[in-house]
Amino acid sequence: MKIFRCDHCGQLIVFENSQCTHCGRTQAFQPDRRRMAALEADGAERWKVATRAGRGPVYRLCRNYRTAHVCNWAIPAREDHALCPSCRLTRTLPDLAVDGHARAWYRLEVAKRRLLYGPIELRLPIAGRNANPAQGLAFDFLADPPRGKQEKTP
Ligand SMILES: [Zn+2]
Ligand SMILES: [Zn+2]
Repeated sequence: MKIFRCDHCGQLIVFENSQCTHCGRTQAFQPDRRRMAALEADGAERWKVATRAGRGPVYRLCRNYRTAHVCNWAIPAREDHALCPSCRLTRTLPDLAVDGHARAWYRLEVAKRRLLYGPIELRLPIAGRNANPAQGLAFDFLADPPRGKQEKTP
């Protein structure tokens, strides 16, 4: 895994960071540019890349970044998706109201993004089920059924 640096202050940034540990800037991975970026808010749900040289392209944060905090990827503002390319591949989630499932979901999404980094870095296409219903990639995050009434003693 490549080491990244904060665009704003140069601090080392790892792939899972959503904030710079030095300057506090919001961080996101840009799958279209294969890099981490320091972002500055630029209006409602719009973010610009904060570089030392100035400001770059406009992005939105993945919905799972904004609401569930299980993702740290950004989407070019011109794209019409609510979810990033990684989150779009998740087809099934377990019941997140069950204790431990939300944390497990976070850990699975981290592992999935690390898995996808390889083909993204190699610029290989990643087809999801929307693009290729028969053979596209999809992730089903399943849980054991709840231990219920069958285990209760009468
Ligand atoms: Zn920084
Ligand atoms: Zn995402």
